[in-house]
Amino acid sequence: MKILLVEDDQALAEGLARSMRDAGVLVETAGNGQRADFLVTTEFYDAVILDLGLPDGNGTQWLSRWREQGIELPVLILTARERWSDKAAGFSAGADDYVTKPFETAEILFRLRALVRRSHGHAHPVISVGEVSLDTHSGQVTRAGMPISLTAQELRLLSRLIQAAPRIVSRTELSEHVYDRDREPDSNVIDVQMSRLRRKLGSGSIETIRGQGYRMTRDVDA
Ligand code: CA
Repeated sequence: MKILLVEDDQALAEGLARSMRDAGVLVETAGNGQRADFLVTTEFYDAVILDLGLPDGNGTQWLSRWREQGIELPVLILTARERWSDKAAGFSAGADDYVTKPFETAEILFRLRALVRRSHGHAHPVISVGEVSLDTHSGQVTRAGMPISLTAQELRLLSRLIQAAPRIVSRTELSEHVYDRDREPDSNVIDVQMSRLRRKLGSGSIETIRGQGYRMTRDVDA
């Protein structure tokens, strides 16, 4: 999961970003609406956390603009304001959910995972393809009911593939959603991590579609 955090309170942003990174989430930050606007229109994220009180305008104004441009990614509003009218304005502008400050990071993570899962069309928190299952909340992966231990990077790869299944996920999509912008992998890195993932999940679990990308399959083999 790759998240854009838009928040001008630097201490709050750093604290939240750190906790989310500890939970295996890729986080990029923007301290104002302009920067956020640039990033959402040029980069790829799974969701945005958006503070309403930004130095260069209300978050809802930026959000309306993104929705008008057809940017559909899930947006969770973060606000200190208790007023009902602020939440209403947020939803009217196209927000999907909100959290009021002060908040528990765990709550934000639960809500983000649900939003991202929903955006891929999944209602149940556990997504299964063939023998492989991913609990999108706990991050636990099983193969035929047996727990499998994955690195944070492998878990992000699997998460993208399993949420997209049976769609083919291109290498470009993987490098945009699964890796940090500052550390975009050469294609070799994806190959190496993909083969490690196959070793752990069963060689038939992930299919390579030549020239197109990768796809989770129901095929079971040793
Ligand atoms: Ca603020």
